[in-house]
Amino acid sequence: MDLHIAGRTAIVCAASKGLGRACAEALAAEGVHLVINARTSEVLEQTAADIRSRYGVQVTAIAGDITTTEGRDAVLAACPAPDILVNNAGGPPPGDFRTWGDGDWHQALQNNMVTPIQLIKAVIDGMIERGFGRIVNITSGAVKAPIPALGLSNGARTGLTGFVAGLSRQVAEHNVTINNLLPGPFETDRLNATLAGAVKASGQSLEQVRQARKDNNPSKRFGNPEEFGAACAFLCSAQAGFIVGQNILLDGGAFPGTL
Ligand code: NAP
Repeated sequence: MDLHIAGRTAIVCAASKGLGRACAEALAAEGVHLVINARTSEVLEQTAADIRSRYGVQVTAIAGDITTTEGRDAVLAACPAPDILVNNAGGPPPGDFRTWGDGDWHQALQNNMVTPIQLIKAVIDGMIERGFGRIVNITSGAVKAPIPALGLSNGARTGLTGFVAGLSRQVAEHNVTINNLLPGPFETDRLNATLAGAVKASGQSLEQVRQARKDNNPSKRFGNPEEFGAACAFLCSAQAGFIVGQNILLDGGAFPGTL
């Protein structure tokens, strides 16, 4: 299927690895020019070079922390008028809420709620003027079914989800859509990091914990980042203009609800 976005430009945040990279690659495969971001310059530059050579699109790498004003300004200076924005950043650490002070909460809110909202604010009026915009926020399955150890994520991401639910309905008439993709367990560095707590608590090896998690999933496996990227690219397509304010769970069927 031709997604009719060849030649458009996208900002993909936190995209040197994992789900962000998969979204960037899927867009590049459709002929979208990219500005990609992550903090570690060497890894980011390597990702940019890989994508350029594989897909022949323009890829600008902007190293920096997207959760800071300086990081966002640098990305926006490189691409002030994107057609597509994919919001992403690292997830908050697991833990017990009794140990979290104001600073922990402010950091989680900054990273996973305020940062995407500020980026949306910076680009959305241009999208409205041009009559096309696609914004995808990478959130988490924790928005739909809270994960006990990830209270910071449960809270901060749900705040973003509530904001987006309102704004998406205010901009849809201009062919500007905002949707959220909710990953369940995907094969990335982050997944293994979040399983570390279970390894410690259970006394099992990482491989045993990973296998148990797979066995518990209806699909009996973790997701491939490429599957996530493909869903993102479709949400960014011309054809997806009637998909507005949705929260799309990619979790292999782990969430047991009928709806
Ligand atoms: P990942 O494999 O660890 O990749 C994270 C990427 O984001 C890297 O490129 C990293 O590069 C970049 N990054 C992290 N913090 C950043 C920052 N402050 N500014 C700029 N770039 C930053 O993680 P992932 O699995 O793709 O996860 C992506 C998001 O989905 C996270 O928020 C995660 O919590 C969420 N999620 C993931 C899963 C899963 O199973 N994988 C499930 C639910 C939710 P640098 O470190 O060099 O900056």
